Amino acid sequence: MPADLFNPAELAEIEAYHAPRYVYAAVDLVVWPVLLAVAARFLTRPLWRASERLAAWLGAKLAWARRAPVLRVVAAALDRMWQGPGWGAALLFALLFFELFTLLDLPWDIYFGYVREKQYGMSPMTPGAFAVDWLKGNTFVAVAVSSLAFGLFGLAKRLPAWWWVLGLVSSLVMVGSAAIDPYRARIYVVQEPLADGELKQRITALMEQAHIDFKDVLVDKTSAKTVRLQAYFAGTGPTRTINLNDSLLAALSTDEILAAVAHEAGHVHESRWPARIASALALLAFLYAVERLFRLTARRAWFGVTGRADVRVLPLIVLVFDLAMTAASPVSGALSREREYAADRSAVALTGDPAALRSMLVKAARTNKMHPSPPRWYVLKGMSHPPIGERIDAVGR
Ligand SMILES: [Zn+2]
Repeated sequence: MPADLFNPAELAEIEAYHAPRYVYAAVDLVVWPVLLAVAARFLTRPLWRASERLAAWLGAKLAWARRAPVLRVVAAALDRMWQGPGWGAALLFALLFFELFTLLDLPWDIYFGYVREKQYGMSPMTPGAFAVDWLKGNTFVAVAVSSLAFGLFGLAKRLPAWWWVLGLVSSLVMVGSAAIDPYRARIYVVQEPLADGELKQRITALMEQAHIDFKDVLVDKTSAKTVRLQAYFAGTGPTRTINLNDSLLAALSTDEILAAVAHEAGHVHESRWPARIASALALLAFLYAVERLFRLTARRAWFGVTGRADVRVLPLIVLVFDLAMTAASPVSGALSREREYAADRSAVALTGDPAALRSMLVKAARTNKMHPSPPRWYVLKGMSHPPIGERIDAVGR
């Protein structure tokens, strides 16, 4: 660890702050797959029966919707896509399964996202604001996950070659979705353009020097929720924005802010195609494995399944996905940590000011309470950034 980063008392506090996270991460590694396996084996049938009953009850209550002007067309389209009227139960099954695991994780969300943040002075957030953010996130993900699951099963029912069609389309969507990134953050934070002045001028000049187009420099108003310093680029090409949060602007000197921007600029010129092609191939392999599961479960009549692409295979698919992600994350984490070192080197090459990058990293580490040397297993499990102590050492003076 760099000698000037933390004194012994500060280091002890930071270790205390991080210790429960490491315990959670270690337990998580074993407990989630076991829970998912138990859910797939024992919960699928009761959850399916509950979904069917709920769908029937809702169907009776909402019978008017099948005759209402616009809803009538939507319901008919879903019937056609699903090749029958069973889509309500399938959608509810996906949603209930997702919500069950979200609720299981809720105590830990509150503990790590609110209680610990308060205890260690990391967040001035009110319980109400925490609840609103949690609800927003949960709603957003619940809608996304259930429509994704619904689309996957709907497509698989119709099209035997669904897995490569979906794999190809999703890979293209992933490439394109970077363009809409700037709009996603606005679900949670208020943003405003950085005022004209020296900082804006120097950032503009730096971006010209780096040959990077951008639309605007935005200030994310996060200080009501967290004391952490944050900087990132969102979007791509003409939609790219440079986002700096208000705490960062208050805590750093202009040279240090430029070092943070130069680091993010270093990520822009990374070659993304190897990663894109690798993730497209991994997705295709996963979807093909899902198709094999569809056939296997239908043949063996697991979970009461009688045909291909039954939604009751979803818990098993989630388990396979969890195991695949756990297996892949040491590799993707290692590649990501390499990219961070490379972005630091390119930041120094761009600004010619290693001292500013170093003091920016020291301030960020202190304010964000970053652990200078996390346990090795935790790093290797898939940390996206190098331990801050090693990163500062690598910058030099
Ligand atoms: Zn980075």
